[in-house]
Amino acid sequence: MTAKPINKVLIVGAGIAGCSTAITLAELGLNVTLIEKQDQWRFQSSGIFVYSNGLRSLEKVGVLPQILEAGFAIADGKNVYLDHTGAPITNVFYPSVSPGIPPILGIKRSEIHRILAARLATLGVNIKLATTVARLNSSDPSAPATVTFNDGNEEPFDLIVAADGIRSQIRQLTFPEIVPRSTHFGVWRSVHQRPAGLHDKYMQMGIGKRLGIMPISNDKLYIFGTVPEPDNPWFDPQDWPRIMREKFAEFQGPSRPFLDEVSEHSEVLYTVVEEVAAALPWHKGRVLLIGDAAHASTPFMGQGGAMAIEDAVVLKTLLQEHQCQTSALEAFGAARYPFCRFVQDASRKVGEAGALEDAASCLARNRKMEQNAQLQVDQFYQQLEALNPFEGVTPNHNQETTP
Ligand SMILES: Cc1cc2nc3c(=O)[nH]c(=O)nc-3n(C[C@H](O)[C@H](O)[C@H](O)COP(=O)(O)OP(=O)(O)OC[C@H]3O[C@@H](n4cnc5c(N)ncnc54)[C@H](O)[C@@H]3O)c2cc1C
Repeated sequence: MTAKPINKVLIVGAGIAGCSTAITLAELGLNVTLIEKQDQWRFQSSGIFVYSNGLRSLEKVGVLPQILEAGFAIADGKNVYLDHTGAPITNVFYPSVSPGIPPILGIKRSEIHRILAARLATLGVNIKLATTVARLNSSDPSAPATVTFNDGNEEPFDLIVAADGIRSQIRQLTFPEIVPRSTHFGVWRSVHQRPAGLHDKYMQMGIGKRLGIMPISNDKLYIFGTVPEPDNPWFDPQDWPRIMREKFAEFQGPSRPFLDEVSEHSEVLYTVVEEVAAALPWHKGRVLLIGDAAHASTPFMGQGGAMAIEDAVVLKTLLQEHQCQTSALEAFGAARYPFCRFVQDASRKVGEAGALEDAASCLARNRKMEQNAQLQVDQFYQQLEALNPFEGVTPNHNQETTP
């Protein structure tokens, strides 16, 4: 199967990973079909932040100018750390990977998808909404895989990219042993009007909880808070606004006016955090896992979206470089696994530090942050670059580092 060049590719799932991969592989001249189970483009308007490495990948996907226009870039990368009372802890500055690419940008999820969808349209990618895979037969390695869709149609494909997220159906069919695991954290998010003077990212470190503020456009911001939930409770969506207010009742400082605004008229989201820590291989026969289907991370480093877009860029490079599909897919796992694993491990540690539940330990943590938060940020981004064999650029600092 492997000597024959790839022609037809099926991408399952039109999230950030699937849309980005459909773009990069269509740019290679492949015949790409992108399927999405939702019957229309329907994405949350809650926010996401994308760090500089992810923005660089969005540049490679051909959409950076539109993303910069729709989102809100923090030009100096400043993140203000406070405690839950609003008392300052320290400021850190995220690096940018190169001049012209901001250190961090917040954007509505719906806007990322609007922009990626427009790029897909210019490339003429065949998109099928309300479509899933009913059956997948890839047992004959010398022949294309046969996919039967939910409408009964059957088609052969040389490569099937599973970009169907943390609960991936294709992963379940191909790697049933890989299952998401609960991290026992819950995340609360709500969208608000952005006051003109609020243009930094904020993170308030509470006792057992963290609450952040991030601008996502000229007129909007979102707040996001994490809480340990050892028992994984279920909350009725109707009660989400009330519960969110209660969960963060002790928070004062810059988040207080937004928490006070949260009501039944607000767009509040509660998400139980799971992760997928899958060992290699991430491919079997003609099926490749990417994005959250392969490596969903806890959200504490804000890298999940960036990793998904980088996957798309790296896959394109490797399919260009390798004559043989199997070796390209092997090289993909070898290139991406150390990177994604590093992010997952770092993110888990940050989550644990934010979940300390006794006041004395929290105070000690905050004191330590005064001393070494910037160093930790610098080391994290240097390591990210070192683990990206396709970039390896030392990040620039837009700002003096704090001591
Ligand atoms: C609370 C929270 C906050 C986060 N914040 C950030 C952040 O600030 N920055 C950041 O970079 N990352 C963040 N992340 C991570 C980021 O959201 C994910 O890593 C990223 O969205 C993964 O994209 P994906 O395309 O792999 O998966 P998804 O976004 O889950 O997309 C999968 C798509 O596949 C479709 N699908 C599913 N099953 C099928 C099927 N059987 N057939 C067809 N289609 C199917 C789904 O409808 C969906 O459209 C956060 C995650 C969480 C949980």
